[in-house]
Amino acid sequence: MKVIVIGAGIGGLTLACKLALGGIIPEVYDSAPRLEPIGLGINLLPHAVKVMQEIGVLDAIATRSIETYESTFFNRFGQHIYSEPAGRHAGYDLPQYSVHRGDLHGPLLERFTEIAGEDHVHVSHRCVGYEQNETGVVVHFQDTVTGEVLPSVHGDILIGADGIHSVIRKSLHPHEGDPVYSGVNMWRGSVVHKPFLNGANMTRIGWLSTGKLVLYPMRDNVDGAGNQLINWVVEIETPKYKDKRDWNKEGSFDDFMWAFEDMKFDWLDVPALLRSTTKVMEFPMVDQDPLPFWTRGRVTLLGDAAHPMYPRGSNGAGQAILDGKALGDALVAAATDPLAALKVYETERLPATTKVVLTNRATPPDIILKEVFDRTGDKPFTRIEDVISLQELSGLSSNYKKIAGYDREQLALR
Ligand SMILES: Cc1cc2nc3c(=O)[nH]c(=O)nc-3n(C[C@H](O)[C@H](O)[C@H](O)COP(=O)(O)OP(=O)(O)OC[C@H]3O[C@@H](n4cnc5c(N)ncnc54)[C@H](O)[C@@H]3O)c2cc1C
Repeated sequence: MKVIVIGAGIGGLTLACKLALGGIIPEVYDSAPRLEPIGLGINLLPHAVKVMQEIGVLDAIATRSIETYESTFFNRFGQHIYSEPAGRHAGYDLPQYSVHRGDLHGPLLERFTEIAGEDHVHVSHRCVGYEQNETGVVVHFQDTVTGEVLPSVHGDILIGADGIHSVIRKSLHPHEGDPVYSGVNMWRGSVVHKPFLNGANMTRIGWLSTGKLVLYPMRDNVDGAGNQLINWVVEIETPKYKDKRDWNKEGSFDDFMWAFEDMKFDWLDVPALLRSTTKVMEFPMVDQDPLPFWTRGRVTLLGDAAHPMYPRGSNGAGQAILDGKALGDALVAAATDPLAALKVYETERLPATTKVVLTNRATPPDIILKEVFDRTGDKPFTRIEDVISLQELSGLSSNYKKIAGYDREQLALR
């Protein structure tokens, strides 16, 4: 079986590794001229960590990342709302990691090359279209740098793992509506900083109306002096966004610092941390309505190409990884009937990811912050117990885990 994967991102490479481990070596094409360790932070929850273990990259990721100890919520006055342990500290079999995207992408690429050998990842190949019939699929490419037309490639199956601007998705759904803007703009960055709280904390502060900040360390002791590389994301309600989604778009401090100038807590000086960042990136919080189907004949979608979601539950990469596992397993199990395997994959993954997309719109984990914001009228509280009970707080959190597929009991059964 010849499988063509468009996109050597997190989802595409997870699939490539699963296929190669099952004896099917795919050809992977990416538009980037070079595959570099770009991006910022990603949270790898236990369901995705389990897949990384299966593929054999867990040790490589573990040595380059931070094992998350707990997830903690504060209001904008720095008052503690709720904490819950993460990964192994919460009784999961496996840890949760906070990792630089490059430190997840790199091990996946290295592992695929190790199993499949060199020459199965083709860079500077921008997919521009394809045709399919009963016997196969023909995929067309352009050189990203020169614009020159490259030789077309024949295969049995085509997987669109080509991210948020997927051309394969466009071909399957040419009349799809525009992306849905959440009304929230995001600014992102990373900064070398001394550890705060317990040095392994996923921290959320404030609320979208007045400015929310998510921050976590993703590399330890980056300078030999004990400082960490901290990832941060600012999210603020912003009626209109300027540009379309671009992971490489630079942003400006002037657009968001006003919301954080007063956040000087005894455990963290937020404005000082943000200002010491050298480069700020900007990204609108945009998703797309769930699709009615991903598969037509020999072609299917995976990861962000299939289900772009608001990054409010640390699940963008995780769900792409789960897709890669499900599709890899289905194709390996049904090697003589790959079209049936695509159906098996879609039946498993489309409804599951639809729920995550919709839940990220309505009740993601940070709904805890909204509840406290609303109930206190954005004022400091005297006792959190008088605002919201511990039971209610943990209920909000565990509901999301069930929907996103990393509830501890569900995961142990799987
Ligand atoms: C440069 C970059 C930086 C990112 N930074 C972050 C971050 O800091 N935090 C975060 O949470 N998520 C980030 N993401 C997104 C994150 O990787 C995904 O949301 C998630 O991992 C799902 O993975 P995916 O494989 O579906 O998509 P991606 O990991 O985005 O991979 C898609 C791949 O498809 C390739 N591609 C796109 N169009 C074509 C085409 N026409 N032909 C061939 N190849 C094509 C892209 O070059 C890319 O390598 C980033 C993605 C990219 C591409």
